[in-house]
Amino acid sequence: MAWWRSIWLCNLSFLLAVAATGVDYNGYRVYRLEPKTRLQVDQVIALETEFDFWKECRSIGQPCDVIVSGEQNNDLLQYLQDREVPHSIMIGDVGQLILEQEIERAARISSKHRDLDFDYGVYHTLADIEQWMVDIEDAYPDLLESFHVATSYEGREIRAFKISTGTTEKPKIWLDGGIHSREWVAIANMLYMTNEIVSQYGVDPEVTAILDEVDIYLLPVFNVDGYEYTWTADRFWRKTRSINDDFPSCVGCDPNRNFDVNWGMNGTSSNPCSDLYPGPSPFSEIEVRMVADYIAGLFDVRALIAYHSYGQMYMTPYGFTYEYPPDFEDQMEACNKGNEALYAVHGMEYTCDTLINLVGPNSGSSADYTYTALKIKYSFGAELRDKGQFGFVLPDNQIIPTGEENWAFFKAFARHVIDDV
Ligand SMILES: [Zn+2]
Repeated sequence: MAWWRSIWLCNLSFLLAVAATGVDYNGYRVYRLEPKTRLQVDQVIALETEFDFWKECRSIGQPCDVIVSGEQNNDLLQYLQDREVPHSIMIGDVGQLILEQEIERAARISSKHRDLDFDYGVYHTLADIEQWMVDIEDAYPDLLESFHVATSYEGREIRAFKISTGTTEKPKIWLDGGIHSREWVAIANMLYMTNEIVSQYGVDPEVTAILDEVDIYLLPVFNVDGYEYTWTADRFWRKTRSINDDFPSCVGCDPNRNFDVNWGMNGTSSNPCSDLYPGPSPFSEIEVRMVADYIAGLFDVRALIAYHSYGQMYMTPYGFTYEYPPDFEDQMEACNKGNEALYAVHGMEYTCDTLINLVGPNSGSSADYTYTALKIKYSFGAELRDKGQFGFVLPDNQIIPTGEENWAFFKAFARHVIDDV
């Protein structure tokens, strides 16, 4: 047997063994629901206690996605048909799709195994990302320095980069990915952008000018415990992995509902098993508290983007009220400039608006916190690709295009932020 073939089979059997230890999504489907009346919106919301929503319905005209097992399928369809809620199949067999992607990834990794360059076009495990952080710091010691930002509930170290050209104090931009662990492309995008920043400094005049004027802080994997869990146990784990003594069977909480801003208000769930559970108290999650403290300790942070997926949106505060933030006009100007550059790359459409207008009410998010409590004017949450065709199972071959377009967004956005003095 040729060497490459045995390696390929080795990788494949390893991957399949890993997949077999986790939640089996064979026969699961993802449906898109499009309620047309307020009554239908409420009827769909009533399903949230029983079904796992990838995206919630909060208003008329805002579609939502729900994943169902083979056993749940008929119950859901009957419920929707009885109430005439428009719906369609987005993913016919989630397990099959995951398996196909694992096979493609294994083949790609084995075919590149002698290529020493890091492959930004595939999803990587936490261990691989930690090694990549060491390697890229070694490759660009003058520009990039990693540091300890927090320790996770399960005791993992959470490391971030400071990307800087010098020792003088400069304004700062903070970027983070993967606060929700199943949103893999948000993490892959952080890796892609890190490499663009350091490799294009001194090459691309736009990047050089940005990095001469600001320092960039970049946290590639925020929710490290959750991310590890998505590779070893459940591909669609969203929350932290903390144990709540009062409800030991419901693990974790939504870290992006755990910030100390309007905590536990609208758009959260008091049910500890819910994906929208904000935790027992504000900043109950050690990762959230430590990262928030770190950002609070930085001087002159001008902008923050927390990357998520999916939906193709850049969102400003607020999530908890329909009131517009005082800086909304400037925020939209920065966003529209970014969006124009983004569109020029692959013709993809992203939307700029407030969190509440785009995803419905939510409280305790990082963008609301850093805008309200830390006064970071350009605080954003971003939802990367796609619009639901693959959802959280976005194929590896969309990582680079996603990175390219959002990198273009970032350059135009950062230019606006720097010029706004
Ligand atoms: Zn998210």
